[in-house]
Amino acid sequence: MKIVAKKLTPMMEQYQKVKDQYPDAFLFYRLGDFYELFNDDAIKGAQLLELTLTSRSHSAKNPIPMCGVPHRAVENYVDILIDKGYKVAICEQMEDPKKAKGMVKRAVTRLVTPGTQMDLKGDQAQSNNYLTAVYLDGSDYCLAYADLSTGELKTTTFQQQSELMNELINLQTREVVHLEKLPQSIIDELGKRNILISSQSQLAKEAEVSYLTQNLENQNQQHVVAILVSYLLTTQKRSLAHLQIAQSYQPSSFMKIDHYSKTNLELMTNLRSGKRQGTLVWLLDETKTAMGSRLLKRWLDRPLIDQQKIEKRQDKVQVLLDNYFERQNLQDELIKVYDLERLAGRVAYGSVNGRDLIQLKTSLQQVPKIKYVLETMDSPVFDELGNRLDPLEDIADLMDQAINDDPPISVTDGGVIKDHYNDQLDNYRDAMNNGKQWIADLQQKERQTTGINNLKIGYNHVFGYYIEVTKVNLDKLPKDRYERKQTLTNAERFSTPELKEKEALILGAQEKSTALEYDLFVEVREQVKTAIERLQALAEALSELDVLQSFAVVSEKYHFVRPELNHDHQLMIKNGRHPVVEKFMGHQEYVPNDVQMGQDTDILLITGPNMSGKSTYMRQLALSAVMAQMGCFIPAEKANMPIFDQIFTRIGAADDLVSGESTFMVEMMEANNALLHATRNSLILFDEIGRGTATYDGMALAQAIIEYVHNNVHAKTLFSTHYHELTGLDQQLDKLQNVHVGATEENGELIFLHKVTDGPADKSYGIHVAKLAGMPATLLKRANHILQSLESEHEDDHVAGATVTESKEVNTVNESNTQPQYPVEQDGQLELFSPAPKQPNHRRNDKVLKQLQGLDLMSMTPMEVMNQVYQWQQKLK
Ligand code: ADP
Repeated sequence: MKIVAKKLTPMMEQYQKVKDQYPDAFLFYRLGDFYELFNDDAIKGAQLLELTLTSRSHSAKNPIPMCGVPHRAVENYVDILIDKGYKVAICEQMEDPKKAKGMVKRAVTRLVTPGTQMDLKGDQAQSNNYLTAVYLDGSDYCLAYADLSTGELKTTTFQQQSELMNELINLQTREVVHLEKLPQSIIDELGKRNILISSQSQLAKEAEVSYLTQNLENQNQQHVVAILVSYLLTTQKRSLAHLQIAQSYQPSSFMKIDHYSKTNLELMTNLRSGKRQGTLVWLLDETKTAMGSRLLKRWLDRPLIDQQKIEKRQDKVQVLLDNYFERQNLQDELIKVYDLERLAGRVAYGSVNGRDLIQLKTSLQQVPKIKYVLETMDSPVFDELGNRLDPLEDIADLMDQAINDDPPISVTDGGVIKDHYNDQLDNYRDAMNNGKQWIADLQQKERQTTGINNLKIGYNHVFGYYIEVTKVNLDKLPKDRYERKQTLTNAERFSTPELKEKEALILGAQEKSTALEYDLFVEVREQVKTAIERLQALAEALSELDVLQSFAVVSEKYHFVRPELNHDHQLMIKNGRHPVVEKFMGHQEYVPNDVQMGQDTDILLITGPNMSGKSTYMRQLALSAVMAQMGCFIPAEKANMPIFDQIFTRIGAADDLVSGESTFMVEMMEANNALLHATRNSLILFDEIGRGTATYDGMALAQAIIEYVHNNVHAKTLFSTHYHELTGLDQQLDKLQNVHVGATEENGELIFLHKVTDGPADKSYGIHVAKLAGMPATLLKRANHILQSLESEHEDDHVAGATVTESKEVNTVNESNTQPQYPVEQDGQLELFSPAPKQPNHRRNDKVLKQLQGLDLMSMTPMEVMNQVYQWQQKLK
């Protein structure tokens, strides 16, 4: 079929030209009071935005699909599309349609994309929105990111793709920009995570970028920042004066936690709900400002490793903790501080309005009070921070003199600038006010001279001022001065030369006054723009103070202590708690636990029944380490901790559904990551490693992993396991210690003590947990039965195994390793574990226990029970 090119109307032709430049964005095309979407944009947009789909030129053979949104509500619609990961190009009318000759000129004034969204509302105000650029050169994986709303601009280089990906995920970036094609593996990974990929076709002129890259030595980093800035210039088409000079950061100067571990530890998002509630940030965030809240997240994302820096934060938290009233005062002032970072962004952007400037003024007015509170605490630890609190008096005064206290949102309709700020404006305003009085007087005068009591002077948009006389009174009107303007059903409207003259004055004054007000407003805004760097520095200092006071608040509220830090590979926590679990269950209910790992202990092997608290115990250590290195106090009675360079976790069933990996594969990948990258100064948490595969398979892996950590990695490691057999490893591995989480049985019920004590656990209690979960009684009975027979079989095996192993030569897997490893296949049989040496009376104990378990109490008399207990006592002697 031959396709006949449709002839487009001039307007649609213009539309199409613009649309061709933005094929991957929704084009919002301004038509009067609406933004219209056409063609495919309209069809898809109507669905996504729940708009009515109509069409242009209904009658034509091929009507054009169309839908529209009112221009005043446009931001809401744009936000919806951006949140869904789309881009929106805003195409404005560039001239007044009334004055335009021919087609109204139109142009795209802004391309909004997920990574460049500025007006973040609600919860999003507490988060950064990062746009990231990526550039690869050999083994350099360079990255630059910016938050357009706050002006933050940073760059770094990684040596591996996985590290780059990890950082992209950490930053929660929603959009990645590149100049040259990205490798398919990166494209795939970004795609899986719904991160939009945008390509920038060319670099901006060097002059536009060099200011921002002036502090960067690394050329690749300069290049990646240039890509990022070029994209911002292309999409935003306006001043980016608030972008801060790019800073290069070293990932190695912070504690590293990969994104798996961050997810597992629920630092920022709850594993189950995906929300903030129940996370560490949720617990720690008692900040009073949105910028404080964002900084807290950044600190949580990058705990420090420099002891001095950590201690500097701790010192400040301590002073704030000790000064309760001052802290209260600080909070009272901080709460009145608005989001200075984002206000500064809007000033630069030219999108600031009168109300924003009043917010700016109010915020600045708090600064001297905050400084004063810091001074009253009279502690040198706040000297430096206090000095950074610049109250920007010149700017505050300017706002105070120029901007009305309660200005309208619009900056073009007047009412923004204060009286007495500008003489000319005052004159216009007088003219307007006097004019109105004069009109009122004239009405009075006309009524008197004509004797028409209901004569009135009114105003309308089309005819201006008029004198209105009802028809019945027309004959009372003297003919000479009155000139007819308009006839209504019951009345006639007139003007007089006198009225005309005043009208011109009044209307002129109004127009001139609003125009002048706008000019003055822009002048003020430009003045504020010169202070953006100072504003940003102030914002930074205030955010810091806000986070520190938040630390003091939570430390007091939840009884945290200041941890001591060491570089001696020693870990001591007395009565440590998991802050979030404790908050949910209450301080009284939570059972605190010690962690005691001297220089000579690298591995704690944790056993205990399911649900007893093993993983909580491990998590609480990791959270305490993160909190300590953020400079916060920690949930314990006393602590002395090493500074960890990295934390690795393999906890729980963090099935990586997004990437479609199997649970066991993820488990192995996470474990491998730890084994490859952990150092002696790292912390590793392995929860039930090997669980995801067959028993012997899993057990073998678990043991091999423990041995590997013990012999090669030397990191502080907590390893929880349900493989009892592993507890015997303490005989071979001198840096491994057994601990267990206690539980007792009462009347056949399992009581969890949640208390971690030395030594291995003696039972698995799985069936009891199944009972707690409410499984049918018959099923449980059957399981008990099976268990008993398995145990007796195992007992026989065990004894046999022990003798066999003792008499066998043990082959080691790793020949270079002098430590005995697990025995390998011999005589066609897989001997996996050398059993722990048994206590001489172990078997007897087991027998007694088994009899005890099998006892049917209900059918026994108390005397029979006593006899039985007596016999056991004899046996055990
Ligand atoms: P495990 O890893 O041994 O299966 P969890 O660490 O998941 O057990 O803990 C199970 C539950 O026990 C937790 O959800 C919590 O309610 C409770 N719990 C854990 N540790 C403690 C503790 N120290 N004090 C009080 N309750 C705890």
